[in-house]
Amino acid sequence: MPTDNHLKDAPSRPWTPPADPTGPGGIDFIAVERLLDNDIQPDALSRLELREAAAALYRTGTPVKELARRVDVHEAAAYELLADAGVLPPDQYCTINDCWRARRGHGLCQRHLEWERREVARSEREAKALDLAASGLSPEQISKAVHRSPKWVTGVLSSYATHRDHGAMEIAA
Ligand SMILES: [Zn+2]
Repeated sequence: MPTDNHLKDAPSRPWTPPADPTGPGGIDFIAVERLLDNDIQPDALSRLELREAAAALYRTGTPVKELARRVDVHEAAAYELLADAGVLPPDQYCTINDCWRARRGHGLCQRHLEWERREVARSEREAKALDLAASGLSPEQISKAVHRSPKWVTGVLSSYATHRDHGAMEIAA
């Protein structure tokens, strides 16, 4: 049962949830309260409401693993809710400027981690293409070896040639 103070004034009146959202952004805070009281299931709440519930649990010291169970999401998704709610300590956010998602690894959020992996994969593929070009393979052969189009290969090679010409002095030093 809900334990809101205003309900104590009318203990005999049956309590029903409001049909309309009660807060800003369509957040039904009574539904949030009811979830916190284990009075309703998480699937009755919107993502914003689950975010509020997760934030409320976090503020009262509930471990993330436990609050994830209470709002019925994976732990990673619980961190996302908490990041959205702005309740995580500063060192729990992604280190990319203006990215306020929860940190997952390497100081980055899931999205920026994936971006970093793609960047690493891209530079490794470029390095391989350059190695193969240096050992005399044609763009067509390189294309097959790195699973990229011949156009991609010629783009990498010409971009490298431009940088090499401009940076020849630095590389020589
Ligand atoms: Zn990020």
